[in-house]
Amino acid sequence: MIAIVKPDELVKHKQFKSIQQKEEHVVKEIIELVKAEGDPILYELTHRFDGVLLDSFMVRKEEIEQAFAEVDPDFLQAVSEAAERIRRYHEKQKQYSWMDPEEDGTILGQIVRPLERVGVYVPGGRAAYPSTVLMNVLPAKVAGVSEVIMVTPPLSDGNIHASILVAAKIAGVDTIYKIGGAQAIAALAYGTDTIPQVDKIVGPGNIYVALAKKAVYGQVDIDSIAGPSDIVVIADKAANPTYVAADMLAQAEHDPLSSAILLTPSVHLAEQVIIEIEQQLGDMNRHEIAASALKNRGGICITNDLPEAFALMNQLAPEHLEILIEKPWDFLSQVKNAGAIFLGEYSPEAIGDYFAGPNHVLPTEGTSRFFSGLGVDSFIKKMSLISYSRKALLRDGARVMTLAHTEGLGAHAYSIQVRLDKEKAGENK
Ligand code: NAD
Repeated sequence: MIAIVKPDELVKHKQFKSIQQKEEHVVKEIIELVKAEGDPILYELTHRFDGVLLDSFMVRKEEIEQAFAEVDPDFLQAVSEAAERIRRYHEKQKQYSWMDPEEDGTILGQIVRPLERVGVYVPGGRAAYPSTVLMNVLPAKVAGVSEVIMVTPPLSDGNIHASILVAAKIAGVDTIYKIGGAQAIAALAYGTDTIPQVDKIVGPGNIYVALAKKAVYGQVDIDSIAGPSDIVVIADKAANPTYVAADMLAQAEHDPLSSAILLTPSVHLAEQVIIEIEQQLGDMNRHEIAASALKNRGGICITNDLPEAFALMNQLAPEHLEILIEKPWDFLSQVKNAGAIFLGEYSPEAIGDYFAGPNHVLPTEGTSRFFSGLGVDSFIKKMSLISYSRKALLRDGARVMTLAHTEGLGAHAYSIQVRLDKEKAGENK
């Protein structure tokens, strides 16, 4: 089921590209239709792809109230507590404007402003993902985004899963539209009579959603084009093989293309984990998905020692890294590339997926080498501020003119010269 692989074979796990190009023309066509025809074509496409003819896209207040009445009280409690923890964590990420007065009266600064309007795509289709709602909406709200619009495809009866509506209300979504796929992304990017144009679109989705986000990037900002999820577990002989196997399978159950890799210097642990995986797989409801993922992109690699395991992990740049070793804190400084780090045996990745507080939208496919996960930063802009003083301009003007002349930009130099001349002539004291 899961193979022992050599270190150099691990790299091929990262060379898989999930996004197929063949759906690209379908998506382009949908985007052009939405741009040209607006709302009427949205109703038609929703009928075609989601099998439902809607009177209105907008979710009404009564539908949200009904959803609260429908959901299990345990779910309501869990989602409320999760939201609170996620909100609190993201509050700590907030950045503030600053101003730095210099002695000559010059003030330099940086002004932080939230984006005005953000669109969050929440996948519909085969499953409901309230955690996706919390993780995408809450950082935007904490950043101070004025309007968060959620889009999600309707079920065949024209409704939205109650758990999604409840999570949206708790997270503070302003408006919800029943629309999915590439048409939802196009509507958010270009606006229609009903759906307002946004500044940024975030949230996962299928191939049509991913390709549409890629196509509208530039018209709006997007979060990223997420690939299949992945985990690297670094474990030593002190690790519990039952936990290691359970955490690898939790990753593998996402998708047949998910990747779960164990790096360990302990042959004994590797053997135990293989036995555990076989045992636990039998009891899983998503057995087939997990088994395919382990076969396609799973692997156990025996390293010479822990430093080699960390070096290999940094090359793989995983989305999730679990460190299940005797002294995990001692090795934290060796982690260079990982979307999120889970330290110690009481920090299974699932606690981060749902509840701990940090965001679960993380860089996949080795991109933690240069990307970070979603957070408050994803929903702000920083503007620089320059208020130069008279004294400083008189002091630095000549230097600026030298640089401008070197670049052949005479008008730049003149805009300084004209001020210096007036000051010298005493016209502008
Ligand atoms: P979805 O909402 O992404 O897509 C449904 C929409 O796809 C439909 O409304 C329709 O408009 C469009 N569509 C379907 N068939 C089409 C066709 N032939 N031509 C054009 N458009 C078509 O829901 P889904 O399909 O269930 O996919 C959910 C995806 O989101 C999965 O891939 C899942 O793995 C992913 N997901 C990822 C995360 C994460 O955090 N990374 C979380 C939740 C879900």
